[in-house]
Amino acid sequence: MKYYSLHKAAPDVDFREAVVNGQAPDKGLYFPESIPQLPKDFVERLSSLSKEEISFKVMKPYVGESIPDDVLQKIVSETINFPFPLIRVDENIFSLELFHGPTYAFKDVGARFMSRCLGYFNQSSSKKTTILVATSGDTGGAVANGFLGVEGVEVIILYPSKKVSPVQELQLTTLGENITALEVQGSFDDCQAIVKQAFIDEDLKQKYQLTSANSINVGRWLPQQLYYFFALQNWQEKEPPVICVPSGNFGNICAGVLANVSGMPVKHFIAACNANDTIPLFLETNSYQPKNSVSTISNAMDVGNPSNFVRILELFHQQTNDLKKHFTAVSVSDDETRKTISDVYDDAGYLLDPHGAVAYKALSDYLKINKSDKGIFLETAHPVKFPDVIEELLQIKIPLPENAKTLFAKEKQSILIDASFDKVKDWMMNR
Ligand SMILES: *Cc1c(COP(=O)(O)O)cnc(C)c1O
Repeated sequence: MKYYSLHKAAPDVDFREAVVNGQAPDKGLYFPESIPQLPKDFVERLSSLSKEEISFKVMKPYVGESIPDDVLQKIVSETINFPFPLIRVDENIFSLELFHGPTYAFKDVGARFMSRCLGYFNQSSSKKTTILVATSGDTGGAVANGFLGVEGVEVIILYPSKKVSPVQELQLTTLGENITALEVQGSFDDCQAIVKQAFIDEDLKQKYQLTSANSINVGRWLPQQLYYFFALQNWQEKEPPVICVPSGNFGNICAGVLANVSGMPVKHFIAACNANDTIPLFLETNSYQPKNSVSTISNAMDVGNPSNFVRILELFHQQTNDLKKHFTAVSVSDDETRKTISDVYDDAGYLLDPHGAVAYKALSDYLKINKSDKGIFLETAHPVKFPDVIEELLQIKIPLPENAKTLFAKEKQSILIDASFDKVKDWMMNR
């Protein structure tokens, strides 16, 4: 499989180079030159196949010759070795729980796949790779966990001090080994700006082979298709589902659309956004106006200029009218999100996290109009990662998952640093 840059001003590359480069030299996103079509009987037989079989079959064409079959088989098996349950919440609404991985967020799947691919590619390189990543909470934990112990790779995470939740912070700061956490005395935007500057700094480039692990990397984007197939494996209704995805950078929903284009039946897609409504407005007005992000209680979706949306347009051959027939985007406010968490907890006894709640609300509104449809929303994080919002609202204490308890027994290790590129650079040059 070859990948081209969506800016069309960089050479085509294979899977290996696309993962190692992250972004094309012309700053475009990589996109597969053709979308593999799955055989009809594969889709019909989904429920009789194992998760490992499905994962290998779906990923193989995208990886091509970059990774031998036996290695790819091992990588996909390790990527998805936790449950992806589809839970009925009420008559017409199902929750696809993606928070049963090591850091309780769907980002585990992409991070685990990408880290193992890079680990394999790195075996034939003498230089150590350094992953530099800024996080508002979820990404850093998933990336750190995915890369923990991977030979020849180290991870440096920048996170905003006091702006991530206790579980998130412990996930970032207690791993040790090849993972280092820089606790930046500033905002997430500061962390991101420092990382961006590091990637173009000549001294740092001399000393380090720097790579990013953000969601535009095809190594993180493509494996996210898998859990849509797992959902369909367990879907027992007559008609295909409406699928609603809580969206920030639009990588997750874009992977769902990709699965659909390659043959997986889906009735309709809904992108559920919080107050960051760039895409809902675009679909309404046909004019794309990126914005500065605004803070919400579903903070992993606080994105004002979603980077993966260009890939969704490409999947629809840039035909916005076609897109609108299959794809809706809506914006849900924090007040509506809070009310949804309370209502669903009271009525169905189901505990939503703020991100899943945005999606639940968007889906239930859609089903009020499209009464014969049934749908799935993606529950992208465990509620325990967002205790402030939920515990205040419901007056409950969220029980810690069994393996989270061990987190609290560990000691936080971080390096406190000013929100200044020069300070971070000094530290990186002198360690
Ligand atoms: C990252 C994240 C999202 C948004 O996913 P995108 O692929 O950026 O659209 C939604 N929910 C949670 C919990 C996340 O961590």
